[in-house]
Amino acid sequence: MLIDAHVHLDKYADLLDQVLQEIEQKRIFTVATAMDIPSYLELQKIGERSELVLPTFGVHPRRAADYADRLQEIGRCIESSPAIGEIGLDFHWVKDTNTYPAQRKVLEYFIAAAREQNKFVNLHTKGGEKEILDQNVVDKVAELRQSTPERIENLVHANFLRMIEDDPWLYEVRSLLLPSNS
Ligand SMILES: [Zn+2]
Repeated sequence: MLIDAHVHLDKYADLLDQVLQEIEQKRIFTVATAMDIPSYLELQKIGERSELVLPTFGVHPRRAADYADRLQEIGRCIESSPAIGEIGLDFHWVKDTNTYPAQRKVLEYFIAAAREQNKFVNLHTKGGEKEILDQNVVDKVAELRQSTPERIENLVHANFLRMIEDDPWLYEVRSLLLPSNS
């Protein structure tokens, strides 16, 4: 079975029907990551159209500044989500340094909830790799510490289809996800 560990299904607009058809035909288990609350609501609707689509809630670092004071609201969405994503830190593409404290605050809230609820996390990191590792956000810290930034980015931002068996880390992701969702 193929797994797409990270895709923004709500961004496909006119191509969505075609994408869902391909997901069904090729039997691709698809983790649909959200950017924010409206995006999550949209993904839940899309998820009703295929049992292979898993909508997950997250607030992307680009959107974090709007949510730093809405943690309770975020908390309710996390409760309803089987896994978490997309969350993370972006100190590269997001140029406005005023948003960085908000990014950290939102990420910490998500990570604490994910730990407590034992939920798999889909991380975005661009320019924030070291900080994420230093915070022990990723469980496989020892393994990742020995990796190059490029490899870490591939692991945490797997924006492409891949054979899950190729990668022990993603294999673990699958085993976390599939028992309760298959
Ligand atoms: Zn993404």
